[in-house]
Amino acid sequence: MRVAVIGSGIAGASAAHQLARRGAEVVVVDAGRTGVATAAGAGIVCPWTSRAGEELYRIASVAAVYYRTLVEELAEDGVTDSSFEVVGGMVVSADPAELDEAYERISARASSSPVAGEVRRLDQARELFPALAPELGAVHVAGGGRVDGRRLRDALLAAAAKRGVELVSGEVSLNGGQVQVNGSVLVADKIVVAAGAWSTELVAPLGVSLGVTPQRGQISHFELPGVDTGPWPVVLPVSSHYLLAFPGSRVVAGATRETGSGFDYRVTAEGQREVLEHALSVAPGLADATLVETRIGFRPASEDGLPLLGALTKHPDVLVASGFGPSGLTLAPFSGTLIADLALGSTPSLDLAAYAPERFSAR
Ligand SMILES: Cc1cc2nc3c(=O)[nH]c(=O)nc-3n(C[C@H](O)[C@H](O)[C@H](O)COP(=O)(O)OP(=O)(O)OC[C@H]3O[C@@H](n4cnc5c(N)ncnc54)[C@H](O)[C@@H]3O)c2cc1C
Repeated sequence: MRVAVIGSGIAGASAAHQLARRGAEVVVVDAGRTGVATAAGAGIVCPWTSRAGEELYRIASVAAVYYRTLVEELAEDGVTDSSFEVVGGMVVSADPAELDEAYERISARASSSPVAGEVRRLDQARELFPALAPELGAVHVAGGGRVDGRRLRDALLAAAAKRGVELVSGEVSLNGGQVQVNGSVLVADKIVVAAGAWSTELVAPLGVSLGVTPQRGQISHFELPGVDTGPWPVVLPVSSHYLLAFPGSRVVAGATRETGSGFDYRVTAEGQREVLEHALSVAPGLADATLVETRIGFRPASEDGLPLLGALTKHPDVLVASGFGPSGLTLAPFSGTLIADLALGSTPSLDLAAYAPERFSAR
């Protein structure tokens, strides 16, 4: 079985690795677009704190558990730099009522997911994340994790290459239902569309509208010289903004969610202001940090916030792995196992009905 995977972001890299683990012959083609989401993503893997609805939580909770298996699978292929680490996650607020509500909600979800670990209240969130404002308390969940999207993508591609996966640079089109790379036909039994926010335009020649659109995210990286930020947990204020830290004195603050942005690859004055205002209001200890860079990524956003996973009805050899929106670094590695199973004729371990890729096409 020869499979062409279009896109080498976290979705394509995960699918390719899983397909190769199952013995498929795989070619990954990537056009090297500007604004790839995987290269900008923050890297929070902590579904228990999220306010996501049940259908998203259903896949996200399994995907977070799967991360532990993924690290082992990469190690089997001799790749040890997954970058995934369990550092804990915490919802922070100065309002005790908000923290009470968060504690109930997170405890309920964590109780049926052992890897979530202990859920506890902290009077002072800055005990664990010293840059935070002193008035903030927290609900801390021990199993929260973080991952560097770039490093994990590279790790997956390295492991895939060790299993014989070929990586090709090129622009793919699906005109006539064939995979054309820079104008030449690439012969494949199955095609996996993992082209992120570009998936809709890629699939359009097949007469299908995926409804996946780019949602720009601007996200800033800071350095706190001389501070060991490596053990700091992920911080989720009660808003869509957040903070997390990485080894090397790095703190990341995100992010804008700009629906309707198109592929407009720019740091804007308003976007930068929004990120800085949120970051400094929650973490005044960042005031003297160095602003190192602001990254831009186009989230592949779906209309209902759920991913698109599955085969196209009229083109059953074309499988879609897209629409991961703000949660792709959490969802895509596990989704790679589902897509690989589907492509190779096995039954996936999760019911994919809610994630049907053509659910927006009939309108
Ligand atoms: C600011 C920001 C913060 C985020 N934070 C988090 C987080 O904390 N936790 C979390 O779980 N998720 C997070 N996400 C979401 C996550 O990053 C994305 O959902 C995920 O990376 C999407 O991966 P993808 O592989 O589908 O798409 P992408 O990473 O965008 O990859 C698509 C690939 O397809 C290629 N491509 C496109 N068109 C073609 C073509 N015609 N031919 C060949 N190749 C093509 C591109 O070059 C690209 O490499 C965040 C995203 C952003 C932007």
